Amino acid sequence: MNPRRLVILGATGSIGRSTLKVVRENPSLYQVHCLTGNRNSSRMAELVHEFKPRYVVMNDASAASQLKQQINGQCDVLDSSDALIDAACSPDADIVMAAIVGGAGLRPTLAAVRAGKTVLLANKEALVMTGLLLMQEAKKSGATILPVDSEHNAMFQCLPQEVQTNLGFCDLKASGVSKLLLTGSGGPFRTLALDKLKDVSVAQAIHHPNWSMGPKISVDSATMMNKGLEYIEAKRLYHTSRAELEVIIHPQSVIHSMVQYCDGSVLAQLGEPDMATPIACAMAYPQRISSGVEPLDFLALKELTFAAPDYQRYPCLKLAIDACYTSQFATTALNAANEVAVQAFLENQLKFTDIAVVVESCLAQLNEQNRQLELEDLLALDEQIRQVAAQYVRKRC
Ligand code: NAD
Ligand code: MG
Repeated sequence: MNPRRLVILGATGSIGRSTLKVVRENPSLYQVHCLTGNRNSSRMAELVHEFKPRYVVMNDASAASQLKQQINGQCDVLDSSDALIDAACSPDADIVMAAIVGGAGLRPTLAAVRAGKTVLLANKEALVMTGLLLMQEAKKSGATILPVDSEHNAMFQCLPQEVQTNLGFCDLKASGVSKLLLTGSGGPFRTLALDKLKDVSVAQAIHHPNWSMGPKISVDSATMMNKGLEYIEAKRLYHTSRAELEVIIHPQSVIHSMVQYCDGSVLAQLGEPDMATPIACAMAYPQRISSGVEPLDFLALKELTFAAPDYQRYPCLKLAIDACYTSQFATTALNAANEVAVQAFLENQLKFTDIAVVVESCLAQLNEQNRQLELEDLLALDEQIRQVAAQYVRKRC
């Protein structure tokens, strides 16, 4: 069988690294067609040497020219935003890993979906920003969306085939599913005294107890906005009602999510906290391939514990769940405000606890009048809320 040709959007990041780890494990099954990155030319140069892509796209023009010098003509290097879109819908690619972080990933992810690709969806923000529109585009083009986020991939594995093949439009009840249980570790501040939260440092916030991830999602995990975004992601992928989706704190991150059936059965997906497992599952679906991840050692597990989330500790989670039931505009605005606030926190311009304050203030300003559920309206709202959020950040620093 010919190797499947792979494009990785966001190849220099954490998900990009785990995807290439799976490629390394299965060299005869995948051929790296194109890699994209932002500014990290040295990391990209290493990837070019090892994986020999046909071409590379860098978002930053000076990083692209540095890379050209570093790789000495080994492959083409492009740097325009059109090139990024072209990479996402390249006719020579079979699978597209959508792993750019944040709203920057939306246009290329959407382009891959519109081109009818098999899209491995790590960029949850794209789905939070556009929701139903993205799922409708996939239906129209015949694209296959496969969830990479570990929780959604876990649910996917525990759900029947008729759900797996009808994402966005499935009927859980008709398939005997009563509830999806979305698990989350609670992040690094699960037991910290509440009055200490305002003083936590960036280094503390990005040090996740179980997972190694990029800086933005690590902060989102500490505020549990990540679980909120995942809540919205799960609702869009699995078409859940309010009663069919619940967040449960599970500090050990051994169970990656569960599906409860109407007969009382609960199916769970377990494993080491390593993204190579869900990535390999999505890359090979419906087959299975090696991910290079160690098998779970049950005898070394001490305990599996569960708790309800505390919204006083995690106000961002509550804001996200509420936005999910307000409107698509509310989730688009939530995501935009959060991205600006998290970036400000990472740059030491905002206190950790002010992330929720900025998001809440932006949502309170939301005016949905005259907005249609069209991509252009969502993008305009995204832009507008980013500016409003930046003003709130300036007021608080
Ligand atoms: P990261 O910060 O480690 O990597 C981000 C990638 O996006 C890099 O390759 C970077 O070069 C690229 N990028 C950043 N800004 C860009 C821009 N403006 N234009 C083009 N490219 C740009 O992030 P990550 O942790 O790998 O997360 C990537 C996505 O996957 C996020 O949406 C995240 O929520 C999701 N995700 C990550 C994990 C994880 O374990 N890391 C788990 C589940 C979901
Ligand atoms: Mg996740």
